[in-house]
Amino acid sequence: MTFSLEDFFRPEILAERAYHVAKADGMIKLDAMENPYTWPEDLTQAWIGQLRQIPLNRYPSPSAHALKAVLRRYAQIPDEAEILLGNGSDEIIQILLLGLAGQTDAVVLAPEPTFVMYRQIAKWLNLGFIGVPLNCDFSLNLQAMLKAIARYRPKIVFLAYPNNPTGNLFEETAILTIIDRTPGLVVLDEAYAPFAQVSFMDRIGQFTNLLVMQTLSKLGLAGLRLGFLTGPKTWIEQLEKLRLPYNINVLTQLSAEFALHHRAVFDQQTARIRANRESLFQELSKLPQVQAFPSAANFILFRVNDADGVFERLRQQGVLIKNLNQEGGLLCGCLRVTVGTAEENQAFLRALSAAL
Ligand SMILES: *Cc1c(COP(=O)(O)O)cnc(C)c1O
Repeated sequence: MTFSLEDFFRPEILAERAYHVAKADGMIKLDAMENPYTWPEDLTQAWIGQLRQIPLNRYPSPSAHALKAVLRRYAQIPDEAEILLGNGSDEIIQILLLGLAGQTDAVVLAPEPTFVMYRQIAKWLNLGFIGVPLNCDFSLNLQAMLKAIARYRPKIVFLAYPNNPTGNLFEETAILTIIDRTPGLVVLDEAYAPFAQVSFMDRIGQFTNLLVMQTLSKLGLAGLRLGFLTGPKTWIEQLEKLRLPYNINVLTQLSAEFALHHRAVFDQQTARIRANRESLFQELSKLPQVQAFPSAANFILFRVNDADGVFERLRQQGVLIKNLNQEGGLLCGCLRVTVGTAEENQAFLRALSAAL
């Protein structure tokens, strides 16, 4: 008797396609919401000087007290809130959902389209997932959300603020109503906080079921993999039990601390990206064949007639963006471009004019 894949994996896992990361060698890379700017040379030298002193033979600090203190100042985390660190916020989503594993009736809920990992990880863990369609203008359908919340009593509601891939901020009053009416946890995923400049962080403590998640990835440290979840101590304490003890490696801990001690560099970079976003949005809006959607993040979603063709013709010209057309629904005809340097954005706009 041979032991087959079918004996091991659930059919949903076997049917899954592996997460596809497009080849980007030599291309203008505007597909992954990365900060396009590098560090000044003296900063790089100072960083390397610090890395040299790290004892790689030792395990990292499991509590990462020093890093958490720096994060607390950086993100203005209220004193009463606790912090859970993740190897990227992706891992935090996994930790949250791992807390529900084995509960056959547990439901996770989010508006859709949204960040795909909520649905993805719920599926891996065999949890129920309810996606509530957004309105055509990508705003929350509050009535539909409340109805689904009352019906399914979700253990977790995820709200990306601003939302990915649509770029908009949901209405604050709608979010507050959802927090109020959700029996379980509401996780506000603020991955784009450096570009949105609004946050629910200061509302932790007003609610017993509100958790706020952020990441250093979009700020300009995607390679480090550091995300953090903040919220009431009682919740974070339990989630801590599901975190692998050394999930944040020594290089990440020290590098993140170092970077946030020089936060002025990142503040300048994100201010430039926000200015570039406004110019890029204006240029896109001038094109009659393009419907560009306003964004509070570092990317812009736009709709064109032949999205697959336009995407492919951009790629042939050496510009890589994200094609969301095959997601269907509200994302039919949609492409997403990350805001790059002024030069990259110009190159993208030239290529787009040729591709339309
Ligand atoms: C990019 C992104 C994340 C993942 O960030 P990492 O910290 O790099 O894992 C989480 N949520 C949203 C909405 C994102 O767009």
